[in-house]
Amino acid sequence: MPSTVLDVSATPLDVLRTVFGYEEFRGDQAAIIDAVVGGEDALVLMPTGGGKSLCYQIPALVRSGTGVVISPLIALMQDQVDALSALGVRAGFLNSTQGFEQRRETERALLAGELDLLYLAPERLRVPETLALLQQAEVALFAIDEAHCVSQWGHDFRPDYLMLHVLGEQWPDVPRIALTATATRATATEITERLGLHDARSFVASFDRPNITYRVDPKDNPRNQLLRLIRAEHAGDAGIVYCLSRASVEQTAEFLVDNGIEALPYHAGLDNRTRAANQSRFLREDGLVMVATIAFGMGIDKPDVRFVAHLDLPKSVEGYYQETGRAGRDGLPSTAWLAYGLADVVQQRRLIDSSEGDAAHRRRLSAHLDAMLALCETVDCRRVQMLRYFGEESTPCGNCDTCLAPPDAWDGTVAAQKLLSAVVRLDQRGQRYGAGHVIDILVGKTTARVTQLGHESLTVFGVGEELDERAWRGVVRQLLAQGLLGVDASGYQTLHLVEASRAVLAGERQVMLRREPERKAGRSRTKTSGSAAAAAADLSPEDLTLFERLREWRAAVAKEQGVPAYVVFHDATLRAMATERPTSLDDLAGVSGVGAAKLERYGDGVLELLAPE
Ligand code: ADP
Ligand code: ZN
Repeated sequence: MPSTVLDVSATPLDVLRTVFGYEEFRGDQAAIIDAVVGGEDALVLMPTGGGKSLCYQIPALVRSGTGVVISPLIALMQDQVDALSALGVRAGFLNSTQGFEQRRETERALLAGELDLLYLAPERLRVPETLALLQQAEVALFAIDEAHCVSQWGHDFRPDYLMLHVLGEQWPDVPRIALTATATRATATEITERLGLHDARSFVASFDRPNITYRVDPKDNPRNQLLRLIRAEHAGDAGIVYCLSRASVEQTAEFLVDNGIEALPYHAGLDNRTRAANQSRFLREDGLVMVATIAFGMGIDKPDVRFVAHLDLPKSVEGYYQETGRAGRDGLPSTAWLAYGLADVVQQRRLIDSSEGDAAHRRRLSAHLDAMLALCETVDCRRVQMLRYFGEESTPCGNCDTCLAPPDAWDGTVAAQKLLSAVVRLDQRGQRYGAGHVIDILVGKTTARVTQLGHESLTVFGVGEELDERAWRGVVRQLLAQGLLGVDASGYQTLHLVEASRAVLAGERQVMLRREPERKAGRSRTKTSGSAAAAAADLSPEDLTLFERLREWRAAVAKEQGVPAYVVFHDATLRAMATERPTSLDDLAGVSGVGAAKLERYGDGVLELLAPE
């Protein structure tokens, strides 16, 4: 095991350059690190991919003693430790997955002062011996990763996080740094309260992820839409596909595999072994697609996830932002794609109506859903709207679907009145129907059902011929989304008026609707034959050959060492090697992402690959 390549007087910038191989700090990193090195507590809100890890890893290396990292991500600890070891950092972990011997060895190393970083599952703190062990060790700092897990309202709540205030009580002089990618102010306040971080310096980064293109498409056979997206834009790329139900996870994974795309399922119904194995393959192999429920993804630090697709509507903007945020941690172009349709609105409204809990709870769920629907139906920049939801003002981004192909807004008041009138007419007869039948009546379609029920005689029969069925479904969906129409929680999903409908019928309220722009199946992007389209984009043919060669070499090295490929080098680093073509170890050390340990270990091998034949 190599030991840290540092002398005692190393500054944070020295560590950044020597150990991590990066030239400069990003954003608030330097200020955060200075605060913690100086012994202050810190609260860090930074988006996924923003560079939170360095904010505690570097202070742990600069301060004397061991940095203790509390993390709920037990399944990822081994990978985190491997990634640090590859950099020459001495790291270990304590959690329930390890055997007695391995634990004893880690404890010994800790007490002997041989660890720079120790990862600890929060439940270990319930064991009195763990606290006693830490008391005997020299602790450089406590880092509380995924700090939003302390929030009882979030879906990542971990009861063990509530114990973490003991750290401040038992170690008043050891700096604590709490980090999360959750953007809401309410969560930040809760973290401060529950962890007793009232005196902490607070660092709030912009939550924009400029390299992610946000797109929402009308749902129309979502699996085929997904397949087209992957084939046209993300062939060979790693991606995550989120579905609401376990059954749909299984079916979608199978569908992709049948169509020649390597895909794996992940949901809470699979046994632990299968889940761990699938996660491990996703992290280790290039270009796999993970089809999952939202049980998957927290803390996954695979940097080259190129797309995140949602086949069902997320329940909140927070959830959507977290899930899509797993794309493009490496800063290269990535896609967040959501398929959304009438059935999603109906389903989510029904889930809320039939949910347990009191009225206040249902109101909260409804408010979350409304914000998500507004994001789907907006005719303005999606990024502006999403960031505003998190309290951040911005200008149109030029990198979301509404910026790239602006949809028209049209005055849908008359259409809305026609639809609502049809619902009223039926209701007057004591009848309620779902969207399909109401639309048949509006477009004047004489289906068997229409004839049988005598609905041809309704005054509204055929009054909506100016729009086709698809357009009418859009009208129904948007009225539901805007809360101008109601849907029953019973099994039949029948439509009914709500209080706000009256103003529309009375002509007192204008209804603006979104017209879906014609969109092509996929934007063409020059694709390379192999994988990693984004990382390989714009490379000259010669550079591309080198890049592919480096990737093959990396795959072999990673396999031999049993670590994910990105632990060896990131795509962005391989790309820089291919374009800069260093010819000496000194040159190679200047490539971003090449630190001292990796230079020593892989330098000669890389130079050999890059040397002209
Ligand atoms: P987070 O934990 O905030 O999601 P990470 O700590 O995983 O983000 O960092 C995201 C990526 O950015 C990683 O690949 C990391 O190596 C890289 N990174 C972080 N800080 C810097 C920096 N100062 N210069 C270059 N790359 C950086
Ligand atoms: Zn935009």
